[in-house]
Amino acid sequence: MTSYMEHRDLANETIEAPRAQEITDNVHRVLDRVRAAEESAGREPGSVRLLAATKTRDVGEIMAAIDAGIRIIGENRPQEIAAKADGLRRLCAERGFALGRDDDEGVEGEGSNGEGGNADSTHIPFHLIGQLQTNKIGKVLPVVDTIESVDSLAIAERIARRAVARGIEVGVLLEVNESGEESKSGCNPKNAIDIATRIGIMGGLRLEGLMTIGAHVDDEYAIRKGFERLRHTREQILDSKAPGTEHCAELSMGMTGDMEYAIAEGSTIVRVGTGLFGEREFI
Ligand SMILES: *Cc1c(COP(=O)(O)O)cnc(C)c1O
Repeated sequence: MTSYMEHRDLANETIEAPRAQEITDNVHRVLDRVRAAEESAGREPGSVRLLAATKTRDVGEIMAAIDAGIRIIGENRPQEIAAKADGLRRLCAERGFALGRDDDEGVEGEGSNGEGGNADSTHIPFHLIGQLQTNKIGKVLPVVDTIESVDSLAIAERIARRAVARGIEVGVLLEVNESGEESKSGCNPKNAIDIATRIGIMGGLRLEGLMTIGAHVDDEYAIRKGFERLRHTREQILDSKAPGTEHCAELSMGMTGDMEYAIAEGSTIVRVGTGLFGEREFI
């Protein structure tokens, strides 16, 4: 499944000028799409953050996106994080940015960010947006601020245990399978509120919101319904006033093909890959 990693040097830092220009133009185009969608939905400018989904992209490509204005990175695979994190951190530091969590020693403290990574304009949050196997938790905790792909109590408990042992708090979005498509990860929507309120009281985790992947169909109504249900679930969680749910504000929903629908339904984070970097050669 990760055979593309053998074909590409993901740590590569040098890209051709035309490729950098292409990424720059794409970032500006997608930022314009986000602003236009915010406006037509009557939402506050800047209320939606653009996360770059960087799977299969190398360090040089990701830095071109950051130089063009990207301020959140999302990776799918722990192996890719391991291949790229050092280079990305160093190049971000040269530009005055701190990327992700930087506590390799597992030092005590709040991690490197505030609520949802929003607080500090010199901090670029690093999110995990792909499935996390138990044996890879230790690999990602030193680097990521937030894990968007938590979809069961079991994985949440395992992450919590490791985070507590490191003396850190990691952000969590509960991934919900709103489309019901079997190929998709995410918890059953019926269980979302229960799982979220349990995560809320786990040490080592900070429940920051919900995440979903839009239905893979050509039907605006069906896609928007899923996003609407996720927003509704978030409202129920916030309204519950259950302990530890007070920061459950984020709705990570919308990708290259459906971000306008997601923004119309209240998305706060859109995760975009193809729109920024072009079609993926692998996976
Ligand atoms: C790849 C990926 C994205 C971005 O998808 P595009 O269609 O390329 O914009 C968003 N979310 C997740 C979880 C992904 O794996």
